[in-house]
Amino acid sequence: MSKGRRTLLKTVLGVVLGLALLCGGGLIWLVRSVPSPQGDLIEVDGLAGVHTGGAWVWVVRTAEGAVLVDSGGATEPTALLAQLERMGLTPDDIHTVLLTHGHSDHTAGLGAFPEAEVIAGPGEAALVRGEKPPGGALPRMFSGMAGHPWEGQVREARDGEVLVLGGEAFQVIHVPGHTGGSTMYLWRDTLFSGDSLGAFGGTVGLLPALFADDIDQNRASLHKLLDLEFARIADGHGGLEENAKDKLHAFLGG
Ligand SMILES: [Zn+2]
Repeated sequence: MSKGRRTLLKTVLGVVLGLALLCGGGLIWLVRSVPSPQGDLIEVDGLAGVHTGGAWVWVVRTAEGAVLVDSGGATEPTALLAQLERMGLTPDDIHTVLLTHGHSDHTAGLGAFPEAEVIAGPGEAALVRGEKPPGGALPRMFSGMAGHPWEGQVREARDGEVLVLGGEAFQVIHVPGHTGGSTMYLWRDTLFSGDSLGAFGGTVGLLPALFADDIDQNRASLHKLLDLEFARIADGHGGLEENAKDKLHAFLGG
């Protein structure tokens, strides 16, 4: 190909990408197409993670079916449903969805689980139900384009509460900052950290400030995690990070 043609091709591609970005659907498509560095399926110690619609959904088996942590960014979560089927689970076996926060890439799949009780952190129900816009610049841009928000009930858990779900205990840890009601859930030695603490493949840290309501508050909230015992985090976009408490110490400078 001649240099002139290559330049033309690059220009055309640039214009197409630019147009896709300018119209919101393209932007959503782009974000939700970003693969996770850890692939699209993780299975470890009774825990399964499925990357669906641009975010990780975590499946915890219980005596009565399963709990999901977040529901991903796809309104029709095909990959997630296929994985549940491989685990011998139907959508009706999901008795609880624990939301780490109300951004649409973590809530869009809720409609696929009609039997599930939806639980979120303190003050987060309005965001989950689309009754208030997200505070972060990028999530606000996405929110109008994310389809219908969840119209069902949302129970708000209390900070420190221990939820016993199908015989499995999940401790609720309110970590405001990424959103006002951002919450983590500690199950056994795994901390489901949502977008409040990212797994970066060797380190842990904060997601970019453009996604957060208040990045300084997000950072400050992380200090309370130092009082918890956990070995790994399972986050919203990176995947799993082992030795996460040591890495959190390093990140926070202590
Ligand atoms: Zn988020």
